[in-house]
Amino acid sequence: ARTVGIIGGGQLGRMLAMAAARLNLNTVILEPQADCPAAQVANAQIVAAYDDPDALTELARVSDVVTYEFENVPVAAAAALAASVPVFPPPRALEVSQDRLVEKSFIRDCGILTADFAAVDSQADLEAALDSFGGVGVLKTRRLGYDGKGQRLFRSPAESREGAFEALGGVPLILESLIPFEREISIIAARDGEGTIACYDPAENVHRNGILHTSTLPARVSEATADQARKAARALLDHLAYVGVIGVEFFVLPDGGLVANEIAPRVHNSGHWTEAACVVSQFEQHIRAVAGHALGDPRRHSDCVMQNLIGDDINDVPAWLAKPDVLVHLYGKTEARPGRKMGHVTQIIG
Ligand code: ATP
Ligand code: MG
Ligand code: MG
Repeated sequence: ARTVGIIGGGQLGRMLAMAAARLNLNTVILEPQADCPAAQVANAQIVAAYDDPDALTELARVSDVVTYEFENVPVAAAAALAASVPVFPPPRALEVSQDRLVEKSFIRDCGILTADFAAVDSQADLEAALDSFGGVGVLKTRRLGYDGKGQRLFRSPAESREGAFEALGGVPLILESLIPFEREISIIAARDGEGTIACYDPAENVHRNGILHTSTLPARVSEATADQARKAARALLDHLAYVGVIGVEFFVLPDGGLVANEIAPRVHNSGHWTEAACVVSQFEQHIRAVAGHALGDPRRHSDCVMQNLIGDDINDVPAWLAKPDVLVHLYGKTEARPGRKMGHVTQIIG
């Protein structure tokens, strides 16, 4: 490939464009927001909606391969593109990850454990599902949730359920059983067009206010648990005939067993540490896979902690820059709104 089309111009698109540039590949971003993070580093931008037919025609014309940085790319748009240009990861991966109900069913079909779940399309469904889960569970919108948005936790059967369906927007929901996890991990893995798979080490993830705060390597899990995560990633990648990088989130049970939570068909926030602690980052790995190059070695050469810079954390950048063993990565966003991902830092700890 010479030119990689990227749907979505946020920080993930920006970091993909940076990795592509180092391999002498051109990038074209499709993103309706003109002053997006990726626009500052991509070779060109098509400023249009993700499903604009003319924009999609243009993207297909100028690209040798098209990829994406977020899972809510309209499936119809990806399918339309795929008729004239290779689209990686395959559009089926979008379909699966856009809807938590489809996603959980798919994960189970791959032989991987998930929380119990039930579709909730009304307040009556909610009452019935909660009753069958003993009155506790996590209620989530099936679509478009991120950073813990669109969720409601039922901790005890005594909690009021009144109006809970409408409070989440009156849209299709899923109720999941509450997993008593000891910690959370994720694994970043890649598959190339020939079916070769490379797995990075699992990261241990801590969230704050629903947003990823830190990813720490190594995760405090046994080798058997890490192996289970790698096996699950392989199964998901093979079932999807996947090309590119995937992120898979898991809950770790007290006995070391894993329960898969969700998959992201793209580079993932909990994989940002790879740019500091591996020879080939998740961004380069993704570009290599979709552009038809050999995968890089996912081995980790250092222990590290990645921390997100959210909102006002951007003010800490001078202090981070004063530490010599920290890789600082900023996204070029000028306005530091609360909850907005402004950048991240990865500290090497050995
Ligand atoms: P992300 O920003 O990672 O995409 P999200 O909004 O898609 O997040 P989830 O990852 O499904 O949401 O849930 C957010 C967090 O809520 C999880 O990381 C976990 O801490 C908690 N959580 C979600 N589902 C469950 C569950 N079934 N049992 C226990 N805790 C859960
Ligand atoms: Mg999610
Ligand atoms: Mg999540």
